[in-house]
Amino acid sequence: MELLSTPHSIEINNITCDSFRISWAMDVGDLDRVTHYFIDLNKKENKNSNKFKHRDVPTKLVAKAVALPMTVRGHWFLSPRTEYSVAVQTAIKQSDGEYLVSGWSETVEFCTGDYAKEHLAQLQEKAELIAGRMLRFSVFYRNHTKEYFQHVRMHSGNIMKPYLKDNSGSHGSPTSGMLHGIFFSCNTEFNTGQPPQDSPYGRYRFQIAAQRFFGPNTNLYFADFYCMYTAYHYVILVLAPKGSPGDRFCQERLPQLDISCNKFLTCCVEDGELVYRHAQDVILEIIYTEPVDLSLGVLGEISGHQLMSLSTADAKKDPSCKTCNISVGR
Ligand SMILES: [Zn+2]
Repeated sequence: MELLSTPHSIEINNITCDSFRISWAMDVGDLDRVTHYFIDLNKKENKNSNKFKHRDVPTKLVAKAVALPMTVRGHWFLSPRTEYSVAVQTAIKQSDGEYLVSGWSETVEFCTGDYAKEHLAQLQEKAELIAGRMLRFSVFYRNHTKEYFQHVRMHSGNIMKPYLKDNSGSHGSPTSGMLHGIFFSCNTEFNTGQPPQDSPYGRYRFQIAAQRFFGPNTNLYFADFYCMYTAYHYVILVLAPKGSPGDRFCQERLPQLDISCNKFLTCCVEDGELVYRHAQDVILEIIYTEPVDLSLGVLGEISGHQLMSLSTADAKKDPSCKTCNISVGR
């Protein structure tokens, strides 16, 4: 039997967080003879990769020959926002079960996409299952070190400026490394109705009335749901003034929540007043997308401890947790 031609001119498109479409060229004479494709897919080494994650197996996929382009799909070997290299080989399965193979094609590289809105909507549904009852609150707060607030006062015109979100949370969140904002909390203690006195982020707390950030002219988005190998689950939400750059960013990428009716954070008019509530059973982290002037709130020192273990700075998501993972790329 003649040798098979080596596939070439690989093209990859329609890339999502857990699929891609691939095609290549081969000699016309081989089209009818080829019975199988071998696709060698390898993750490019990433120094920021999750060290807790199971080791990724280099994947040689065997597929029955179909018309090209073909779609390769699978969250068990494709992670979101990850660089891969791919090469293909064609083969004819012979009567003795052995394969007659072509040479390997050139290697091409591509990067998978982030979670699409539909995947985030699945995460949102999972988060809704454990959000719990709603408790009233009246302030957003942000804990940090004394040095941070000194710097804001002395060198930043008293303004806390939005900064680029780190890679904490779900791998594949479209906000990581893309959205500018400032993290705030709003959880209260169920017995006091007040913010807790402990914080992972520092002994100084800036507190601001909820209506400064959140009202009828604010859009609210669901951004992420994850845990970090403990019992605590985090829900990340974004608050953006309607029409602001942050709002436009989120509108394209994140599921929007009804501000007066959702399971996480609400703002309702009751007896002519704005009333705020947060979900009790998840830790909410609110990204506010605009600069914040310290003079609009109150800065003080907390009496509690700095619980470092609850920090979500560069937090790595537990990919094995059934509560907060969906069946697409992890
Ligand atoms: Zn979890």
